[in-house]
Amino acid sequence: MAKHFRPLPSTMKLADTLAQRVAQLREFRNMTLRDLAKTSRFDVRRLEEIESGMETWFSSTERQLLAKALAVEPALLQEVERRCKPDTDEENELASEDLLRLSKAILTGSRDLECPHCGGNLKCSIQEGFDLDEQPIQFAKAFCLKCPFVLR
Ligand SMILES: [Zn+2]
Repeated sequence: MAKHFRPLPSTMKLADTLAQRVAQLREFRNMTLRDLAKTSRFDVRRLEEIESGMETWFSSTERQLLAKALAVEPALLQEVERRCKPDTDEENELASEDLLRLSKAILTGSRDLECPHCGGNLKCSIQEGFDLDEQPIQFAKAFCLKCPFVLR
């Protein structure tokens, strides 16, 4: 295999997904999956998963190996990588659901509520205000007597 690859032509329209882009670059380099596996040190099976869209992102080491094997900048792969939502996002969503439930409870008159963080007593109140359309609206407010939790 040639040691130096020609740079990608500026007119080349790169595919929008990681799967298509890897396949496109590999074909542009006239490589088979097996060639690419050998150069990048990826498994052929792994490459097949990448090109079928099952794998959507790389660790930085993997990205560098694959980019080097394809003779492109790692950023060219990174820009079409799609990460699954990290776990923390899910936790945040749950937390905001809790907060919504909490503020509804306050607005419907509950006062004996527990802090969603520590289970301590919440000091709750309702604040009157106006929404974006200048309509009167009630906001639930609460703060925990034990921990820094605040709902506002
Ligand atoms: Zn608390």
